[in-house]
Amino acid sequence: MSAIGVDVGGTKILVVRIEEDGSLVDERRIPTPNDGRMVTAVAEAVQELTSGITVDACGVGIAGLVDHDAGTFVWGPHVAGVDIPVREQLESELGMAVVVDNDANATALAEHRLGSGRGSEALLLLTLGTGIGGAMLFGGSIYRGRGFAGEFGHTRLVDGSARCSCGRCGCWETEAAGPALERLAQDAIACDPDGSLANSLENQAVSGPAITAAARAGDAQAIGLVARIGLAFGRGLGSLLSILDPDRVVIGGGLGSVGEILLDPIREGAGRDRYAADHTELPPIVAAELGERAGAVGAGLMALGQAGDR
Ligand SMILES: [Zn+2]
Repeated sequence: MSAIGVDVGGTKILVVRIEEDGSLVDERRIPTPNDGRMVTAVAEAVQELTSGITVDACGVGIAGLVDHDAGTFVWGPHVAGVDIPVREQLESELGMAVVVDNDANATALAEHRLGSGRGSEALLLLTLGTGIGGAMLFGGSIYRGRGFAGEFGHTRLVDGSARCSCGRCGCWETEAAGPALERLAQDAIACDPDGSLANSLENQAVSGPAITAAARAGDAQAIGLVARIGLAFGRGLGSLLSILDPDRVVIGGGLGSVGEILLDPIREGAGRDRYAADHTELPPIVAAELGERAGAVGAGLMALGQAGDR
């Protein structure tokens, strides 16, 4: 058995071919079309990757609201198109079974099966990058609510007033993810043009990846900004812990890969105002293990029915 897994993000689409155990055989990367032709682009990339090869199924994880049962992409602030019947169109183009889900659900399945979520019975996965995505796995099964549960980034868990990509103001992800980090960095550079961050980012655009790279390289200002984001993220997470009481929290996404520079402030923020902190333990808050391919691999596993959730 082998499967295709697809991760459709706001800027790129990653297509992987995996074996039954989740091991990677081959991959392709293409830019995400901004004209609504996402399904055509995915179909072409899959056909390229499966030329002359038999594959059993295809799973697609998409950033945004996905109706898993209907197989449709409903809407998302980062991917063009509304109410696209992705499963139906891809099954007819590819001639194989297709399963469609939210990208964070696919990532959580992969981390639960192969990564740092292994063995968890009540897993909360949060992806921290341009925005904040998330998924919950209870007893190894995705919790979906009526279909769209887990949109953690668009809750108002901390104070804030910045305009969000979803059109509203003050969402958690505008205060505790990539855009907030970029705003903090722009302010820091404007106030301290001869500081370490201005030097680290010289001739580079002020972007999340550039700031986290500077933090990893030891830039004290960049480390301080990442810590402020971690604290804001952690304080929101503290509320989620009271609601969900997970036995483990896995942090993925581009920012999540920074490691302890971010995780320590997250733990501090999550512990700061936590309810009944003297009577309950903070659950382990750990980094995701599978990196940028987790969403695509999880979508492939979902397609194979291995994760027990099709
Ligand atoms: Zn929002």
